[in-house]
Amino acid sequence: MTAEKLCQSCTYPIDNIEDRGTEKDGSKSNLYCKYCYQNGEFTDPDMTLQRMIGIATSEMKKQHLSKELISQTTDMLPGLLRWKVKST
Ligand SMILES: [Zn+2]
Repeated sequence: MTAEKLCQSCTYPIDNIEDRGTEKDGSKSNLYCKYCYQNGEFTDPDMTLQRMIGIATSEMKKQHLSKELISQTTDMLPGLLRWKVKST
């Protein structure tokens, strides 16, 4: 079983430590990527799940990923830690 580590905000793969966000103390986040999370805060605190789905979809379309893969990924988004806790 390969448990790939994914950003718990946008599903960006964070297996590589270089791709991870940073906590306030400068350590690497185990949960979020560098695009979502810097210095212990989300880079875009006003981001909503709906907007994230839109951004993820357009990014994946740019990469010419299959429709199946795109919908698989966007289906995962609501279950991610960032969106689970703030579901209102
Ligand atoms: Zn992310």
